[in-house]
Amino acid sequence: TETLLSVRDLKVSYQVGKGSIDAVDGASFDVPRGSIVGLVGESGCGKTTVARALTRVIADNASITGGQILFDGQDIAALPEREMNALRWRDIAFIPQSAMNSLDPVYTVEYQLNEVLRRRGGLGRRQARARCEELFEMVGIEAGRLGDYPHQFSGGMRQRVAIALALALNPKLVIADEPVTALDVIVQRQILDQLRDLQSMLGISVILVTHDISVVAYVCDRTVVMYAGRIAEAGPMDAVLMEPSHPYTMGLRNAFPDLKGAASGVLTPIEGAPPNLAFPPPGCRFAPRCPFAVETCTTQQPALGMAAPDHRVSCHRADEAAKLRQEAARTET
Ligand code: ATP
Repeated sequence: TETLLSVRDLKVSYQVGKGSIDAVDGASFDVPRGSIVGLVGESGCGKTTVARALTRVIADNASITGGQILFDGQDIAALPEREMNALRWRDIAFIPQSAMNSLDPVYTVEYQLNEVLRRRGGLGRRQARARCEELFEMVGIEAGRLGDYPHQFSGGMRQRVAIALALALNPKLVIADEPVTALDVIVQRQILDQLRDLQSMLGISVILVTHDISVVAYVCDRTVVMYAGRIAEAGPMDAVLMEPSHPYTMGLRNAFPDLKGAASGVLTPIEGAPPNLAFPPPGCRFAPRCPFAVETCTTQQPALGMAAPDHRVSCHRADEAAKLRQEAARTET
């Protein structure tokens, strides 16, 4: 499959007082055309920072300090803001975290869709109306509700409106930051099913940012696991979640119930918390929490190497960890 987006050694820093926080410190991953890629990790690992960097809608104190973001062959990390602005909505749409609460409460939903369709997309009044109806049908809401205000919709429906808004101008890539986090599990599943259906119907690519690995298991084709501003592991969803090579991925997997059905096995959260990125530990940033860590891990940063073809892992102890996982699986059955 062809690559739509290729992130190469991306670095993003926040300026805080006299110091800086390297929230993303050399992230590399690919998004193939027509796929859903899950970007997963605990809170504070840099997922939102990556997502925002890809659309270049970053905080005032943030800057992209290195690397490339190749979108359709063009490096958008270096693109002048004017050109980048032309790409937003049209080519890359972003659904921000808690999008369902970020719809403007004073305007009807149709007004907000029109802002994108008419102002950014240049559609006429009639065309925009037709597109609004089409978009509502796509996300499963009656067109009769286009004149409603955001508060008149349930949380799940507001999230559908946010998805409609993102799809308004037929983008190639949609980046959704925690799209189902505040919703109950039944509604989560409906929204994820819909996202999946729309993705395959429209042939678009989606980056789904989530802290919940069961969301990735439910809907994603590929998984990118982030830890403390770096990529821990990346590859096809099944390979990464069923045969993880990074101890962090193994820990994440054990910490969440399975969205597909009942909780399987015992849930054991990883002990400790991600490091303060103002003072990251030397070597592997996961080492302080890692049951497999040896001396090297605390002094040398592991490179993102191959665990298998198309499956990358950044761990000095990946072989040992994988061996133990296989042995554990054998004794379980
Ligand atoms: P969450 O799910 O909680 O949003 P995340 O994995 O998306 O977590 P980010 O929000 O990208 O993580 O944050 C990564 C790091 O950058 C954190 O250490 C955070 O404190 C820091 N950070 C985020 N925004 C800013 C900012 N505007 N100024 C300074 N530091 C920031």
